[in-house]
Amino acid sequence: MTDIIDGNAVAAEIRAGLADGIDTLADAGVTPCLATVLMSNDPASETYVSMKHSDCEEVGIEARDFEIDPEAPAEELYDTIDELNADPSVHGILVQMPVPDHVDEREVLRRIDPAKDVDGFHPENVGRLVAGHPRFKPCTPHGIQKLLAATDVETEGADVAVVGRSNIVGKPMANLLIQKSELGNATVTVCHSRTENLADKTRAADIVVAAVGIPEFITGEMLSEGVTVIDVGINRVDADTEKGYELVGDVEYESAKAKAGAITPVPGGVGPMTRAMLLWNTVKAAGDAEAVDVNLP
Ligand code: NAD
Repeated sequence: MTDIIDGNAVAAEIRAGLADGIDTLADAGVTPCLATVLMSNDPASETYVSMKHSDCEEVGIEARDFEIDPEAPAEELYDTIDELNADPSVHGILVQMPVPDHVDEREVLRRIDPAKDVDGFHPENVGRLVAGHPRFKPCTPHGIQKLLAATDVETEGADVAVVGRSNIVGKPMANLLIQKSELGNATVTVCHSRTENLADKTRAADIVVAAVGIPEFITGEMLSEGVTVIDVGINRVDADTEKGYELVGDVEYESAKAKAGAITPVPGGVGPMTRAMLLWNTVKAAGDAEAVDVNLP
């Protein structure tokens, strides 16, 4: 029987565990606060930001919303970041990506105070992660570590194929899994668009993390019996549904499930964990900033 890894259930446990830390902060007179900055009219980005706000409200994190006209000069965004950096009541800052072309994305990432960088994309935080003493782990790979732990999938000594080398998923995932730490100690192969004989790499893996952005790219025949499959992909494909589309992962679910010992569904696998870990990072940021000792789940 294949274990279907229930990301909604594990994320609910994380949120429940965060309540403890939020209570501790409340006892110290602190309400954790996340500021989101949106410089886009893209409906998907708007939806992501509004979901982040409702997630915050649900657990007792204050969410502040900053919207900047996508036509405005880049300086308007930079100034907003500077103001949020200087505001001690704001613990976490999240600039929703992508930003418009006339804005320098790297400048945005560098500009956010690393102590408030709850996405974990500031070069200082990336460096700390690689060096093995992370401050904020990026939400998606951190959530995947928690999913693996909750499913009792051992990473120590495991062969892992991470398919995808993006800065937000593939690279930090690989870096976390090779750390000499409880949820690490794996042997990781990072695969990407120039990788040759990809199926040989995925077939040799005990755990496959698919973060490719191509619908149903990893198929059952690329996998070994008993593999754990973590499907990060969220792809809209045309379908005969009310909305006219459906969401599919980067893994061909049915053929992969037939091989896998455990697999994440899409939706309901990695996605809810990414959302929960943003709350986790915000509570951590508040604890660090206010010097309150917070227990994190
Ligand atoms: P990206 O486009 O930045 O990176 C995709 C990676 O796939 C690249 O590194 C590329 O080298 C690799 N790739 C492309 N073609 C390949 C091929 N033929 N063989 C092997 N590797 C190939 O994407 P991303 O931001 O890492 O996101 C990946 C997917 O995950 C997307 O579907 C995205 O929507 C989804 N995503 C989901 C969550 C979540 O919370 N579930 C979070 C982030 C991203």
